[in-house]
Order: sequence, then C-alpha cells, then structure tokens
Amino acid sequence: MNIILLGPPGAGKGTQAKLLVDAHGMIQLSTGDMLREARTSGTAMGQKVAAIMDAGELVTDEIVIGLIEEKLAGDNGGGFIFDGFPRTLPQADALGELLAKSNKTLDSVVEMQVDDEALVRRITGRYTCGNCGAGYHDDFKKPKVEGTCDDCGEQQMKRRADDNEESLKTRLMEYYKKTSPLIGYYYAKEQLASVNGLGSMEEVSSEINAALKV
Ligand code: ADP
Ligand code: ADP
Ligand code: ZN
Repeated sequence: MNIILLGPPGAGKGTQAKLLVDAHGMIQLSTGDMLREARTSGTAMGQKVAAIMDAGELVTDEIVIGLIEEKLAGDNGGGFIFDGFPRTLPQADALGELLAKSNKTLDSVVEMQVDDEALVRRITGRYTCGNCGAGYHDDFKKPKVEGTCDDCGEQQMKRRADDNEESLKTRLMEYYKKTSPLIGYYYAKEQLASVNGLGSMEEVSSEINAALKV
C-alpha cells in the first residue's frame, strides 16, 4: 500500500508516519528529512536550499522530485508513506508518472485537518532527538526524563531553525497557496480520505487506520 499524508506544517504527518512504519513495516519518505540531511552533510544541493527552507518557502519541484525518484527505485517493503510530498500540483503529476513507470499505484491520500491555532502550538513546541529522530513536544509529548530520549537514551534534543512563528507564517501561506489545491486534485481522483487531526496522537492514528482499512 502506497499512501500520501497531506496536511499543513505541524499537522502530525511525521508522527503518524512513524506509527505506520512501526505497525505495518511501511517506509517513510519525508522530503523535509531528506533536505535537512542534505544540509547537514554539506552537499551542494543542501547549501543551495538552506536559506529557502529557513525562510519557510518551498524548494524547487525539480529538486524534490529528484530526491523522491531516487528512493522509489529501492524496495518498498510494506509500501511507501509520502510525508510532505507532493506539495505542488507539478509534484503530484510527477509522482503519478514515477509510480506508473515502476508499476506501482497510489492507494490513498490522507488529509489531516488541523486549524491554524493548533498548528502554531504544535510547531513552536516541537523538538526531536538529534540521534534517532524521535519526535517530542513541550506540552504534548515530553520524554520520561527531561532532555533524555525515551527511545535511544541520548541527550541531544534539537529544534528546527524554521520552527518559529515568523517562518511558520510563510510556511502556512505556502501551504494554502500551493499545497491545498492537492486536496481537490485527489478528491477528483477519488483517492482522498480526510481525518480530524485535532485529537490525541492515538485518536488520529485510529482514524487513519480506519480510513486505510488496516
Ligand atoms: P513540515 O514539518 O513543516 O511539514 P517539512 O519537514 O516537510 O515541514 O519541510 C521543511 C521544509 O523543507 C519546507 O518548508 C520546504 O522548504 C522544504 N520542503 C520539504 N518538502 C518539500 C516539497 N515537497 N517541496 C518543496 N519544498 C519542500
Ligand atoms: P508534521 O510532520 O506534520 O510537520 P509532526 O508530526 O512533526 O508534524 O508534529 C508536530 C508537533 O506536534 C510535534 O512536536 C508532535 O510531537 C506534536 N504532535 C503530533 N501529533 C499530535 C497530536 N495529535 N496532538 C498533539 N501534539 C501532536
Ligand atoms: Zn533518540
């Protein structure tokens, strides 16, 4: 099963993708994670996109489509979860073509609905483990011991440079202008399932499982 998790920044896409990976052996393809990795490893592409990402704007379609194309060639285990991709109509068209070329199908697009007020709270309180990538939140998901990762025991918590109110304003505008048209695009293809993203992580997970019938 190959699915897209669609939603504004902070909607909980990464959180739910990780739950699907753990429960169903799916593979998470997050273009945001791939771009951040390119930045820390200092590749030319990483340097090129750094300022764009920090400002909260979208990087070019060409770059992210290239990143996804590389990953699609590999094994897809229990299926791919596209997290943060596609974000524009040209990216959606490109994904359709890439999947068709490798005889794969897109099974469902799950739209996670969360209002702006909740997004601001989620984004401004978000941090992750710099060692294993586990996600945390100042109010909604604290580690058992402050500053120490529950999963790997390391003390390397970090916050994203773009998780501030200023960048978030731009990211939300980019979402409403360029990404939200994908809701209509997939609705018209009869692939859209919308879930309420405002409940607890467990509640949202149950809704997603019900929508995917897994
Ligand atoms: P969020 O958690 O806010 O949804 P991501 O981690 O998915 O954010 O993305 C962080 C940044 O990386 C985006 O603001 C954008 O600059 C860039 N980015 C990630 N995915 C894409 C994409 N599919 N198209 C264009 N830019 C992207
Ligand atoms: P996205 O990948 O869509 O940008 P994340 O999964 O990173 O979003 O979630 C953003 C922040 O909100 C994280 O700190 C995460 O722990 C928290 N979070 C995710 N889902 C929920 C939820 N259902 N309720 C409360 N907080 C949540
Ligand atoms: Zn960790």
